[in-house]
Amino acid sequence: MDHYRLPVTGTDIWYYFICRRELWLMAHKIAPNQEDENVEIGRFLQDYYGTRGKEEVDIGSGKIDRIKKVKGQLIVQEIKKSSKYRESSRFQLLFYLYELEKMGVQAVGELTFSEERRKEKVELTEKDRQHLIEAIEDISEIVKESVPSAPKKTKFCRQCAYREYCWAGE
Ligand code: SF4
Repeated sequence: MDHYRLPVTGTDIWYYFICRRELWLMAHKIAPNQEDENVEIGRFLQDYYGTRGKEEVDIGSGKIDRIKKVKGQLIVQEIKKSSKYRESSRFQLLFYLYELEKMGVQAVGELTFSEERRKEKVELTEKDRQHLIEAIEDISEIVKESVPSAPKKTKFCRQCAYREYCWAGE
């Protein structure tokens, strides 16, 4: 099988903070069992893609939902339906801030959870930057593996498209 190609994308970051095994399966384009009526891929993907619209901005390593300027400050907005995948959403947004920073563009982030009608400010601190760099390196290693890591049960398994694949017979 071909090795997964760099660079790491915002989507990789999203999956990494949910499940490393899922990251590998997605990166290797292994399709989940779509015939299984229990598979909730629609709901899962809707949370990721559902709010994407015309205003999104392609920065190469991913698509930002929206960028606005308020009092000279550039604000990158990422819109999610709920905070169910907050950690993934936050790091995905931090990744975009980091990518922009590498292009010489300074911005802060704004994470919106539309169904909860709340927003969260996201800033790329030194601690987050280090965490992100480690995650990017880790992702590059994970996707190069010839097999995925063993399944590990988490709160995300119940709604994961690979649930049957990982936990058949349970
Ligand atoms: S079912 Fe669980 S272990 Fe398997 S890919 Fe999904 S989140 Fe990961």
